[in-house]
Amino acid sequence: MKRSRVLMAVVAAGVAMMAGRGLLAQAQPPAGPNVAGIEKVKDGLYMITGGGGNTAAYLTPDGVVLVDTKLANWGQAILDKVRTVSDKPITHIINTHTHGDHVGSNEFFPASVEVVAHANVSTSMARMPAFADPAKKHAFPDKTYTDRMTVLSGNDAIDLYHFGPAHTNGDTFVVFRRLRVMHGGDAFSAKGTPLLDRNNGGSGVTYPETIAKAIAGVKGVDTVIPGHSTVMTWQDFVDFGEFTRAFLTAAQAAKKAGRTADDAAAALNLPAKFKDYTMTRAKDNVAAIYAELP
Ligand SMILES: [Zn+2]
Ligand SMILES: [Zn+2]
Repeated sequence: MKRSRVLMAVVAAGVAMMAGRGLLAQAQPPAGPNVAGIEKVKDGLYMITGGGGNTAAYLTPDGVVLVDTKLANWGQAILDKVRTVSDKPITHIINTHTHGDHVGSNEFFPASVEVVAHANVSTSMARMPAFADPAKKHAFPDKTYTDRMTVLSGNDAIDLYHFGPAHTNGDTFVVFRRLRVMHGGDAFSAKGTPLLDRNNGGSGVTYPETIAKAIAGVKGVDTVIPGHSTVMTWQDFVDFGEFTRAFLTAAQAAKKAGRTADDAAAALNLPAKFKDYTMTRAKDNVAAIYAELP
């Protein structure tokens, strides 16, 4: 008896809820909006955190250039943070690579905003279900490049570099020339084992070479915004390059010695200077490298 009364009450409540859905929606707003963080990197350059990859906001006299747009539904959160430091319009979005935590909110910004990325990002985005809807066409790059490109000019110049496959086959290093700051995207996402996205052309075998080319080819940078994690120094990036080389060398030697990928990952003997690195993907990365090696 008691149980059936409770059941009745539940059913009645459900009916009342459906009937008064509008009212209910007013009384109980949906879960709070996404809220990002913002920190100053240098005068005129900010890092917006939360919601996926780090977004950079670069202020110019004519507007604001964004690097990466986080996960889907974070556009308003990005804009809200930009509005705390500038009232200028967003003029450009530069995407460091194709992943959904970096291009996810491109579509929030109007079609007039110029989206710039490596040519392979367009190809990869075209395969992503999130962008299959033709209404999201304006999320795709308007302008692409293959090796090097400069966005804006003079004092505001931003240099884009692609040095070959690493995290994906469309990684861009974004350099704010005057400020001596680089956004490394997920080619340098944090101090630790990087994600090797072989489905999007990434490679653990070419990774160290790609980072070495970036170290040799990019001049005058002292500060690096990583794809995730906190602001770092150029030396941190140089050290990361050394880490990727040491990791590859160890994996190559283990394969030659006939070790399984699991054994190799467990027995990695990397220099002590990398003891604070996050090794979460060590197993996956050794397996990926094994699959790439002849
Ligand atoms: Zn990412
Ligand atoms: Zn990524």
